[in-house]
Amino acid sequence: MKKDISLAQGRGYLAIPGPSVMPEAVLRAMHRAAPNIYTGEMVDMVPALIEDLRRVARTRHDVAIYIANGHGAWEAALSNVIAPGETVLAPASGLFAHGWAEMARGIGAEVELIDFGKAAPWDMERIAQALRADTAHRIKAVLAVHVDTSSSVRNDIPALRTVLDELDHPALLMADCIASLGCDRFEMDDWGVDVMVSASQKGLMVPPGAGFVFFNDKAQAKRNAMPRVSKYWDWVPRANPEIFYQYFGGTAPTHHLYGLRTALGMIHEEGIENVWARHERLAQAIWAACEVWAQGGALELNVSDRNARSHAVTALRLSDGKAAALREWTEANLGLTLGIGLGMAAPDGSGRDDHFRLGHMGHLNGHMVMGMLGGIEAGLSALGVPRGSGALEAAAAVIAGND
Ligand SMILES: *Cc1c(COP(=O)(O)O)cnc(C)c1O
Repeated sequence: MKKDISLAQGRGYLAIPGPSVMPEAVLRAMHRAAPNIYTGEMVDMVPALIEDLRRVARTRHDVAIYIANGHGAWEAALSNVIAPGETVLAPASGLFAHGWAEMARGIGAEVELIDFGKAAPWDMERIAQALRADTAHRIKAVLAVHVDTSSSVRNDIPALRTVLDELDHPALLMADCIASLGCDRFEMDDWGVDVMVSASQKGLMVPPGAGFVFFNDKAQAKRNAMPRVSKYWDWVPRANPEIFYQYFGGTAPTHHLYGLRTALGMIHEEGIENVWARHERLAQAIWAACEVWAQGGALELNVSDRNARSHAVTALRLSDGKAAALREWTEANLGLTLGIGLGMAAPDGSGRDDHFRLGHMGHLNGHMVMGMLGGIEAGLSALGVPRGSGALEAAAAVIAGND
């Protein structure tokens, strides 16, 4: 190998699964003086902003906005519909499902967890068994992580709805779309989702700090039956405020709203169906490259079934600690930052450095994906990782529509 020179100057590329790459237009929209928060254009723009949020979620129902990250949106959603002592069912395909379940325990819920491991989508039959056994309807909600960002598993929400309907089980279907919204197809109303949580910093292309909870009439009825809901998390005034400040339970997240206004405009200008199709094609290009590299035996896609893979994030294994080495190499030498593995190491810590993830959510196009894949090819070459040849050609064929 030649003496190392760094090729990291130039525009960096953060290819991690959130925060995602932000459009210049979003950053420019945020770079401004603070607006009047009592009257004027910022106040006036919020109703249409909320309408555009609904359109991304494919719902005609309500949404409450929180100045919070995804964890805050998790707690907000639970706080409105789950009372202490009530039970939730948590089918888990990765770390984030465990995280939401932990949040539920934190507000005093009983959690029935079904663990499908770190690489497999839900087994509907096992979920059906748990619901069928619940003849007393103790389970008040199913906490359904659509895309688990740690494993990159994408779960089948409509199939879960069918199971609930067939068993006539009244539990709320609560979906975590923090990773998937604006990336993977999601249709809140058509899929019969009662509550959906999301956040600003992934497919929505805005900095972390805004969380969203969408909810329908069935969820509102459960909210109305709650013994109490903490004032700050209560979604009622946020969704239907009498005074402007109630939208946000206090001062509005002024600059996030400007960023979000621009980002939602970009999404709807492209068209949400096109946004989903773009993510799908780009994901297929990434898988094509990874599947070729995998022929060398060192690299492995975490999710083997293409139908269970997210279009927003890809989790990979690279043995012998090479995943950490690859991330370090691409960051130091290319200005390309790849995602760490999350929740994939064994309990004793072994394999800690054997996992990484690619974020491909939001503001992303063909040349960025080809650049990221080319950077990984260079890193694998520098580290001497055995791999199949022709990965970039395979990805290019998908991008070109010739696969
Ligand atoms: C990112 C993410 C979260 C957590 O969001 P934070 O903003 O980091 O709190 C939860 N669930 C999923 C599926 C995510 O991708």
